[in-house]
Amino acid sequence: MKIGVLALQGAVEEHRVSLGRAGAESMPIKRVEELQTVDGLIIPGGESTTIGKLMRKYGFIEAIRDYAAQGRPVFGTCAGLIVMAKRIDGGEPAHLELMDMTVSRNAFGRQRESFECDLEVKGIDEPVRAVFIRAPLISEVGPEVEVLSTYRDEIVTARQGHLLAASYHPELTDDYRLHQYFADMVESSRPAGSIV
Ligand code: GLN
Repeated sequence: MKIGVLALQGAVEEHRVSLGRAGAESMPIKRVEELQTVDGLIIPGGESTTIGKLMRKYGFIEAIRDYAAQGRPVFGTCAGLIVMAKRIDGGEPAHLELMDMTVSRNAFGRQRESFECDLEVKGIDEPVRAVFIRAPLISEVGPEVEVLSTYRDEIVTARQGHLLAASYHPELTDDYRLHQYFADMVESSRPAGSIV
């Protein structure tokens, strides 16, 4: 099993280190052709407008939509969550439009541009250490989206079948259990006898 990390902008290497700790092989994805060589994809944080522009420029919008439509798992963190959403508050155009949710960018206020906390995440036994940096929140979810965690009543982790999204940066701590959770999603999505 191999998991790709979209390498257009953001914390690519940190995600690869966390995946390695979770026992998963990984590779950076720079070209659309490389998508077909991985069983799952992480879209890292960074700046969503920039990531969106680069995805359009290099053909990743259609390619990731097709990839997800094949049932391949996709995990977006922070700006990666924003680009996965169907709707962005404030009327800004959405990017991949994969997950049935509305997101609000930079939602935790200027005084709290970045902070860390321990988050209860459904499906993971002990709280997960989370780093929020100019983080978005999920302001609304459709019926197929399962809320996995909230912070002060705001949704910050969600799952829709094979799609996973987190407002924060799980790759910036030593806690790799969310990567483990995603690796398990990828493992169970693989067709029997898959050689990828
Ligand atoms: N604030 C950024 C955005 O709106 C996301 C920040 C992050 O990925 N740490 O794109």
